Amino acid sequence: MGWLQKILIPFLGLVLAFWFYSARDTFKPEMLRGKRVIVTGASTGIGEQIAYHLARMGSHILITARTEAKLQNVVQRCLELGAASARFVSGTMEDTAFAQHVVREAQTSLGGLDMLILNHVGASYFGFFDGDVEHVRKLLEINFLSYVAMTTSALPMLKESEGSIVVVSSMAGKVGFPFTVPYSATKFALDGFFSSLRQEFTIQSINVSITLCILGFIDTERAVRAAAEVLRERPAPRDECALEILKGAALRRRELYYRYSSTRLPLLLRDCAAELLDYLVRSRYHLPAPPGA
Ligand code: NAP
Repeated sequence: MGWLQKILIPFLGLVLAFWFYSARDTFKPEMLRGKRVIVTGASTGIGEQIAYHLARMGSHILITARTEAKLQNVVQRCLELGAASARFVSGTMEDTAFAQHVVREAQTSLGGLDMLILNHVGASYFGFFDGDVEHVRKLLEINFLSYVAMTTSALPMLKESEGSIVVVSSMAGKVGFPFTVPYSATKFALDGFFSSLRQEFTIQSINVSITLCILGFIDTERAVRAAAEVLRERPAPRDECALEILKGAALRRRELYYRYSSTRLPLLLRDCAAELLDYLVRSRYHLPAPPGA
């Protein structure tokens, strides 16, 4: 009887609490109808799919990336899918002034902002860290500082709309990953900045949600080209990933894990068995033979 009270009842309590917590809200596409949304890195990959889902839900969409021709096609497709409006601004996020310019464009053309989806990512290499400090600096500008600059510029509009910030990150921003050292560093920086900012929003009663998205391997062209031959796992579909990001954002979740089984579950080991987690991460790769082997 004693074990029942000590183990089984608390365990059932935890299961019920988890069920209640995870079932408290449900997503409805209408939640995003008429919302004014910026999506960065939307010329291709996950960002492009996010734009299409938003279009089907009837949002006002402002997309950005460098390649104008691709952005034009995405805007055209968004309009065909039912977007309330769709437009683009092209330019590079290496330049902080451009990041701020995109936000001003939302102010001018949309008259405000409900959701800022920060998704773009600069090109990096896949391989052992090569010691190129300038590359790390440049990647920090694109993958981190431009996110900070856009957030800072957009905050007055987001405060007014009690809106949302969505930060697309990676498992590589939660646990050390080999072969993507500069990229991982930029993703860890995002967690530090946005998780701390969320704390300050709570202290200051600022009703702007921050959703940090922790993604595993997704089937975008860039990721598959870089990693498909060295990773032992199958990539998850980018359109489903994009929809999960929007659900998490609309429900104002603090963190979103996709796919849950390859992200959230392994991360449970981080505090109690960090070396086991490191081993599991390494075992995902076909590793090169050690020198002299
Ligand atoms: P992707 O297909 O390579 O798309 C990247 C986007 O960023 C493109 O629209 C690209 O457009 C834009 N971009 C690149 N450099 C830029 C620059 N200097 N200035 C402005 N825009 C720039 O990437 P993805 O695989 O969809 O990844 C999207 C997000 O998910 C990223 O934050 C990534 O870290 C995260 N993620 C992806 C995976 C995965 O396996 N795919 C896994 C974990 C996390 P232009 O080239 O036209 O500028």
